[in-house]
Amino acid sequence: MRSISIFGATGSIGQTTLDVIAQQSDDFQIQVLTGNGNVELLAEQTRRFQPNTVVIADETKHAQLEKLLSGMDIVIQSGRDAILDAARVDVDWVMSAVVGFAGFEISLIAAQHCKTLALANKESLVCGGPLLRAACAKYETNLLPVDSEHSAILQCLNGEELETVERVIITASGGPFREFTLDQMRDVNASQAAAHPNWSMGQRISIDSASMFNKAMEVIEAKELFDLSNDQIEVLIHPQSIIHSIVGFNDGNMVAQMGPANMAGAIGYALNWPNRAPLDQQRLTAKELVSLEFNELDDTRFPAVALARRAIDMGGLSGAVFNAAKEQALDLFLAQRIGFLDMAALVERALDHYMLSEWSQDMTLANIQFADEKTREFVQNSITKDVA
Ligand code: NDP
Ligand code: MG
Repeated sequence: MRSISIFGATGSIGQTTLDVIAQQSDDFQIQVLTGNGNVELLAEQTRRFQPNTVVIADETKHAQLEKLLSGMDIVIQSGRDAILDAARVDVDWVMSAVVGFAGFEISLIAAQHCKTLALANKESLVCGGPLLRAACAKYETNLLPVDSEHSAILQCLNGEELETVERVIITASGGPFREFTLDQMRDVNASQAAAHPNWSMGQRISIDSASMFNKAMEVIEAKELFDLSNDQIEVLIHPQSIIHSIVGFNDGNMVAQMGPANMAGAIGYALNWPNRAPLDQQRLTAKELVSLEFNELDDTRFPAVALARRAIDMGGLSGAVFNAAKEQALDLFLAQRIGFLDMAALVERALDHYMLSEWSQDMTLANIQFADEKTREFVQNSITKDVA
């Protein structure tokens, strides 16, 4: 019997994870399910999967959750501290799928309490990859990527030594604005940006895909997960989203991984690693493979990946700065305070600002949280000044 906790159960990844788990033939016990605002769905999942503990991050929803689950013999909790406590429950397998920086500390704590950490929350690696990896090494926790490109790399590696990897190519669909000019992108709104042509995902990652900030995060994620340098990681536009990544080995051979554009395959792989288990999901047909296209990334229209490369070169806490600036800029875009293209400009400014800062460079949780907070303030203030 495997014990499992899912952080961010009500999200896009969380829901797919529960769907995949429901298909497994072996027994499992859900220990923890968490959500933030979607109390109805969390209650529905709780009735179906019978966890020991259910936590809603938004404390104002506590009473509603209790009412929806009245009569059930489970622990019902709310608030940030309760989520972090739930990450301290010892289990076999954890899915870390809370969106944003809020997921980082959850991953870090869970890494100390589970046998396998399935990581969807890419912010964890971007903000504190070395810290998370050190925790996994210390507690002998398997760290498995759920992001499809990184799951693809893991599948291509198939147990081979990292030293044999010369380079990786991460693909990007190009998003809804793949063929837009800069002028056309200037005035797009959030619903246009969230309308991804191939993938169905949460709102924030969908908009990050349109701006290529998602790919930028994935370049940092690949660096952290597979010990690669900046120039070993390439990005290629591939509008069909069928090939998720390609690994080039030191003998010149290259291995690519293909699959449908949904997360079930990557989640199923992380759930059953190092083995595979049957999964009832979409199958690609041979006909769909007839015309696979690839194009170079245009850094002028999509500067996010180049900014991530700059953050990698800067080192220190620049990953946390990069992420915080991107998250704050996205909030401002969603609030219609800034335009779509302003997001990259603000991230660039935040990196400039960080270069001049005298913050401690030590990668501790406290320093990462400090850099996150200060960068959000900086981005917020720089926009307030611009408007004034
Ligand atoms: P969603 O927005 O769909 O879901 C986010 C989840 O986190 C929900 O359960 C939400 O609760 C919860 N949540 C939000 N804010 C908080 C908070 N402050 N504290 C605790 N819980 C919170 O996101 P996705 O599922 O799309 O993405 C999750 C993570 O996985 C992200 O880091 C994303 O980048 C990554 N990822 C996603 C992919 C995808 O295909 N969706 C692919 C690869 C990576 P509620 O809904 O109840 O408010
Ligand atoms: Mg991805």
